[in-house]
Amino acid sequence: MPFASVVLDIPTRALESAFDYRVPAEFEASCLVGTTVLVEFSHRDVVGYVVAIKGEPPEDVPVDRVLPVKRVLAEPAFDKVSARVAAWMARQYACALPDAIRPFLAPGQTMKVRRDGDDQPWYLVVERSGPVDERWVSLTEEGRDFRPRANASRQRQVLAALADGPMRMAELSATLPGSSSVVASLARQGVVSVEEHRRLRGMGQTSLSSAQAKRPVELTKGQKDALAAIDEARRGGRGDVVLVDGVTGSGKTEVYLDAIESALAEGQGAIVLVPEISLTAQTVGRFRSRFGDAVAILHSRLSAGERFDQWDLVRRGQAKVVVGARSALFAPLSQVGLIIIDEEHEGSYKQDSSPRYHAREVAAHMAQERGCALVLGSATPSLESLERCGRGSWGGVSWTRVRMPERPGGAQLPRVRVVDMTQQFASGGRSIFSAPLREALDQVVERRQKAVLLLNRRGFANFLMCRECGAVPECPHCSSALTYHERTHSLVCHSCGRSWPVAAYPNPAARCPNCGSPYMAAYGVGTQRVEDELRMILPDDVEVIRMDADTTRSKNAHQKLLEKFDGAECAVLLGTQMIAKGLDFPEVTLVGVINADTTLKLPDFRAAERTYDLLEQVAGRAGRGEDRGQVIIQTYWANHPAIQAVLRHDRGLFTRSELADREEGNYPPYSRLTNVILWGLRADLVRQYTDAVAALVRREVKNKPGWEVLGPADCLKAKLKDRVRRHILIKSPLDAEPGELLARCVKEAKVPRGISVAIDVDAQNLG
Ligand code: ADP
Ligand code: ZN
Ligand code: ZN
Repeated sequence: MPFASVVLDIPTRALESAFDYRVPAEFEASCLVGTTVLVEFSHRDVVGYVVAIKGEPPEDVPVDRVLPVKRVLAEPAFDKVSARVAAWMARQYACALPDAIRPFLAPGQTMKVRRDGDDQPWYLVVERSGPVDERWVSLTEEGRDFRPRANASRQRQVLAALADGPMRMAELSATLPGSSSVVASLARQGVVSVEEHRRLRGMGQTSLSSAQAKRPVELTKGQKDALAAIDEARRGGRGDVVLVDGVTGSGKTEVYLDAIESALAEGQGAIVLVPEISLTAQTVGRFRSRFGDAVAILHSRLSAGERFDQWDLVRRGQAKVVVGARSALFAPLSQVGLIIIDEEHEGSYKQDSSPRYHAREVAAHMAQERGCALVLGSATPSLESLERCGRGSWGGVSWTRVRMPERPGGAQLPRVRVVDMTQQFASGGRSIFSAPLREALDQVVERRQKAVLLLNRRGFANFLMCRECGAVPECPHCSSALTYHERTHSLVCHSCGRSWPVAAYPNPAARCPNCGSPYMAAYGVGTQRVEDELRMILPDDVEVIRMDADTTRSKNAHQKLLEKFDGAECAVLLGTQMIAKGLDFPEVTLVGVINADTTLKLPDFRAAERTYDLLEQVAGRAGRGEDRGQVIIQTYWANHPAIQAVLRHDRGLFTRSELADREEGNYPPYSRLTNVILWGLRADLVRQYTDAVAALVRREVKNKPGWEVLGPADCLKAKLKDRVRRHILIKSPLDAEPGELLARCVKEAKVPRGISVAIDVDAQNLG
């Protein structure tokens, strides 16, 4: 008689292990690993997930006392390997087992046992997704010659996506908001046709799978090297990692496409992760054009039903290439040959709610479990990946870096110029705009071109800065920038919690700790103020478009602002980080960074790395057209290695000094950093229990080499939605598994209801 190991989904009680149930004869064929089942636990019905089937009864219970599986609620969503990966995630990221299993389940389905009050009966809720949009859109013969009006950018984007081959309507509107009305109007003009899936299939696979895949005539040397390394890693079957380190536009996507093609030829599939904002209609189109309907897209803007539909194509083996955001990693693909993570340095690969996993780390583990290759791609690889490649191996598999330093066809990178704002200040400049940036803007106006201005801003963090030398007071114990709190007029360290009244730092007589200047000012300017000043210096016939959290709140506002910029004759787009990526307008000849510094001095050890990534990305935006374009970076720290590296197109300038600093401070990639956060409405209790957890952790790690505990301190966002937040930072050696130890300490502290705790292992966001 078979027995099933079932992980129970009980939210209030994080049960650490699986429980064994008997599989009655009627369910022997359907109760498999990966199914959702209904069982009894503690005298009530509970939903659970089968993680193993075994022939032997459990050892500790008499066979006749083992309860039966009562119902099978859903078909298998994961296999044995995935069950092992989930168990690994639960251990690594200190989360409950059902939380770690949930990402593997079919999207858009809810199965829960609920009750409406403490004395009410339990009942089962099963929600399945609604009907699915099966329509496909394709260009008609006439459509191929259709030319949209100059400012009809949405039409242009739809046509560009379809030029690569037909697409599902659902994908098109998920990746290009508002495209359904565009499609309707194009259909009326006979430019596109909309058909049901089945009919399209009836026309024969050819219309889809042999779509007009545009292949380059010849691959660059870098591309060939990358492909060879990937094929070798894949055939090795050990979970080896290849880092494709290629400048923006060097043809990384082309490499992925070819690598997938050779995997498919050998009967293997691929999972491709891209950041949500890069999952555009164009990206989808490129994969479709090469692989036709063997591609499934997983995107958060798809409806629940559509997501289920795509997921199910993968489970049934019809789609062998999965393209999606972070969670696509858990798609039920069998025979995985490749896992590809594009823009692997992106912080968004870390999930910020339970399970707080990092897709890169899970993928590396998964690749070993499945014996496939992991491909990481970026123009600005993470220091973690660079360091591992430097060692040559990590975690028992090889890490290989392949460089692609050139754009195909010899396209040039833009000219970069750094403006030292302390010099501007010294020569009397008090404007937000330096003289060189003003001149460049004037030129753009004169030539009726376009400019993009980046205001580097992360909102809440404020600090004091010397306008004469650029110095920012740092915590002497943590070498982390001190943040300035206006209300109390104090400087606070968010790593260790120490604070100083401003006048007393470092001594009341001299204001600047570095040069003694009295010009210490709170640093940070808002987009509104820049916009006002910009309008003052530009003639009235230049459009100024501001894009920030305030102007993009409404639905599709982001898209509309970009369209306005696209349609304008001469315009300046002013925006925060959100404009740095995905933007691809050939008429942009100038990219200005108003303040490269705010992120450089965030109290976060990754501040410099993020700044470097951002500047390098934004620099890649200029001069995509004929004109080579220029980038002007205004900064108070012109000599900072991150800035110098962008200026000289030499990443080593940055990584060498940054890695040395990290090693000295025992920060990642030389240690693992965990952020334990407690929050709640009552400040006294939050403080009390954060202290208690910190004391327990300190006791546990006292004699362990390489462990270090910082804090407790207020979080950078000390208050969020009325909840007070405090945190503790824990460094541990690379081979340690801090999740388990910390979970134990939190449990022992007996944190009461009303106070939430998060254990964020390998934290990316220290706010
Ligand atoms: P990345 O992903 O590195 O930004 P892409 O793969 O998108 O780069 O390539 C940038 C552009 O160069 C695309 O338009 C692509 O079609 C083109 N391209 C890529 N490889 C080649 C090649 N070997 N020869 C000519 N053009 C190429
Ligand atoms: Zn400190
Ligand atoms: Zn100074």
